[in-house]
Amino acid sequence: MAVKPRRKAVVVDVGGVKVGGDYPIVVQSMTNTDTADSPSTVNQAMALARAGSELVRVTVNTEQAAAAVPRIVDALDKFGMRVPIIGDFHYNGHLLLKKYPECARALAKYRINPGNVNIGRKTDDNFRIMIEAAIEHNKPVRIGVNWGSLDQALLTRMMDENSRAAEPKDARDVTLEAIVVSAVESARAAERHGLARDKIILSAKVSGVQDLIDVYRSLAAACDYALHLGLTEAGMGNKGVVATTAALAPLLQEGIGDTIRASLTPPPNGDRTEEVIVSQQILQSLGIRNFTPQVTSCPGCGRTTSTFFQDMADQIQTYLREQMPKWKAGHPGVESMKVAVMGCVVNGPGESKHSNIGISLPGTFEEPVAPVYVDGRLLTTLRGDRIVAEFIGILNEYVGSHYSVEERVLEGQLL
Ligand code: SF4
Repeated sequence: MAVKPRRKAVVVDVGGVKVGGDYPIVVQSMTNTDTADSPSTVNQAMALARAGSELVRVTVNTEQAAAAVPRIVDALDKFGMRVPIIGDFHYNGHLLLKKYPECARALAKYRINPGNVNIGRKTDDNFRIMIEAAIEHNKPVRIGVNWGSLDQALLTRMMDENSRAAEPKDARDVTLEAIVVSAVESARAAERHGLARDKIILSAKVSGVQDLIDVYRSLAAACDYALHLGLTEAGMGNKGVVATTAALAPLLQEGIGDTIRASLTPPPNGDRTEEVIVSQQILQSLGIRNFTPQVTSCPGCGRTTSTFFQDMADQIQTYLREQMPKWKAGHPGVESMKVAVMGCVVNGPGESKHSNIGISLPGTFEEPVAPVYVDGRLLTTLRGDRIVAEFIGILNEYVGSHYSVEERVLEGQLL
């Protein structure tokens, strides 16, 4: 089954990164540092950008954070890291954007949560002030609804209307509908306040997989704004990764989603870039976008008595990922390369032949040799304790000869 054509969303320019239309689905992430601590935030934003995050969001929750934003953007610029920085505002965004115009100017986009921007007010003045700041500074916004902070007045109104209906819907359906209505009505209000359609991205995040799928199907059908897709509060470890994948994959398969984020909870002092790698891996596994050469490795079984092949698969995967920043410029197309690292000869040679390069390590009772296949043909047989180093040498040669800029110019691909 092929991925369905993308839903045609209005294209939004976020600091030079295009979101929507036929542009590649954008991977984004968010820092978890105190934004007021600008050195830590710069370091983490750089790590996220290096890992492949094309947009990075930072919390702007206090005056100190707002004051730090221009410094952060400047420092990233000085380090040559041109990743657009997005400001995440709640409750006091209208005050901060007004009081700190340098912050408003430095950010590439503002995230507005319609559920908490006008709490306790009869008018939408706070929301309007944020929209006016976006218009003044020519910035796009993401109107980001989250069911944890859904507009309670809207939900109550819809629940009341539902209870008076001849055939009331179930409360879950009304809540999900309210999430979509909140997003779309807020976007229409932003337009009424003068913000152009191509300055609006929408999201409507929930933490349940089936709920998210229902919400985004409705949202996609209800409007043509570009959509930011993500399962909110996905959780830790395997649970977070699996739930995010289970939620995003069916929607992406249906052509829904223009930019994605994996909202994973890292372990204490864990690596924040994990969320970038997960988003990339979802897109690459679905065949939507390639980011890094893929390693196919078998799970191992009783035929593999040592961890050698697991270590090797890990070393190769890490090596490939580490090379990508360098390879990206000099070896276009390398991100689609497939590498197989297999535990024995049962499926090893077969899987290797389906890859650009593959190696089958010796299983128990097998002769201690490792056949290497390149483009489906047996190239050589490695043995001894330098198998990993020699295999990496073969990989490098393959990348140099198959994905060099010169090669592609000769083939007419870059002319
Ligand atoms: S390829 Fe060999 S080692 Fe790997 S799972 Fe299959 S039988 Fe086991």
